[in-house]
Amino acid sequence: MKEVWEVVIGMEVHVQPATRSKMFCGCAIAELNAAPNTHVCEVCLGLPGVLPVPNRAAIEACLKSALALGCEIPRHTKFDRKNYMYPDLPKGYQISQYDLPMSINGALDVGGRRVRIRRVHLEEDTGTLKHAGDKLHRAWESYVDLNRAGVPLMEIVTEPDIRSADEARDYAVELRAVLRAIGVATADMEKGQMRVEPNISIRRAGSEELGKKTELKNINSFRALHRAIGYEVERQKQVLESGGTVEQETRGWSEAEQRTFGQRSKEFAEEYRYFPEPDIPPLELDQAWVEQLRGSLPELPSARRARLAGKLPAAAAATIAADRELAELFEGAVARGAPALPVANWIVNEVAPTGKLPSADALAELVKLVEAGNLTRDQGREVLAESVETGRTPAEIVAEHGFAQVSDESELRILAQAAIDANPKAAADFRAGKKQAIAALMADLRKRAPQANPKKANQLLLELLG
Ligand SMILES: [Zn+2]
Repeated sequence: MKEVWEVVIGMEVHVQPATRSKMFCGCAIAELNAAPNTHVCEVCLGLPGVLPVPNRAAIEACLKSALALGCEIPRHTKFDRKNYMYPDLPKGYQISQYDLPMSINGALDVGGRRVRIRRVHLEEDTGTLKHAGDKLHRAWESYVDLNRAGVPLMEIVTEPDIRSADEARDYAVELRAVLRAIGVATADMEKGQMRVEPNISIRRAGSEELGKKTELKNINSFRALHRAIGYEVERQKQVLESGGTVEQETRGWSEAEQRTFGQRSKEFAEEYRYFPEPDIPPLELDQAWVEQLRGSLPELPSARRARLAGKLPAAAAATIAADRELAELFEGAVARGAPALPVANWIVNEVAPTGKLPSADALAELVKLVEAGNLTRDQGREVLAESVETGRTPAEIVAEHGFAQVSDESELRILAQAAIDANPKAAADFRAGKKQAIAALMADLRKRAPQANPKKANQLLLELLG
């Protein structure tokens, strides 16, 4: 008999808030392609005799994120040292938060499931190891780049409330949408600004006891997250159904092989010897400031999605609601009298993929021109691109290019007749039943007048040939 398993997933997500400088020093955040070790100072190198100073912008981003996730903000919070030895951490410790995190007890609703948020706290990133050479011939060399050492990270930890790979992906997507909507992070996974680590266990359906869990690392896209969890759940089922036991461990995800692999055992809890960071006094958060931040939060994607869902198909509503700028563009263009559905289509298909935003005025004008049949869709695309580039209005661009479509019937009738007269063979073929011969007539007509409204021209050709 096939056993029924319940999947239990908790998520740990690290997100880099969009600050200009690092968490505890004035070093600028390095671009991805910056030369190694060019964004470092005494503080983030951990040299003796220097003092870390918390970055107010990072604290603000963390508090806003926590508030958007419905967390409580305790009045008192502090930083702690998490001690461990690793080459990418020359200080020998990471400044994080242990027993008094910046926030606790929130929730994020995703597709009908409430995922409880245990905590959102702040910490600093480590450096990056780079390996070169040839392991086989023992010419293996490792280098450390400390540009990322001390970069602020928010850690967002859920309770084990997620029940499938789909829900885990939806949670991560929604979390990113919230963080983007409130403007605290861009959270691009491929740039390492958002790192998702699911912990996964399975248990026999109906059991209350949690199974042994594995934690997955090296996941760099939502797709990889979904696949890695799917793989891991199947692996654990096979282990348990064949009488084995799941080992508590950290596992990596191999994108190339599409499988997880064991990295290190977590059979014994790691001992980090946390203690309060002696160089940073505990923080007492000004409640008036917290309330001011709460009041400054914009509408969240879930609320926006609910509002847009009345006007648009669900997929378009979701895409637009996930991005504050797209949502504002949509609402601005509709407020200027452009019809909602075509506006949404232009945003989803043309604006979102390029990432270049026209003004609401320009988009409204463009959509109206296309909908009225004064501009073909291809011409519309060209006009849109040029409008974004130059800031000129679609009407100005259309006038300059002579793009305006000819929809006038008497004018089009003359053009259609001219095309028929110039191509007697195609006309005869069409009349003899070769319907595709109309393409040659249409091509001739478009050559005479590229701006001819294609739908009306086609109608008139049919009428004249009939
Ligand atoms: Zn520094």
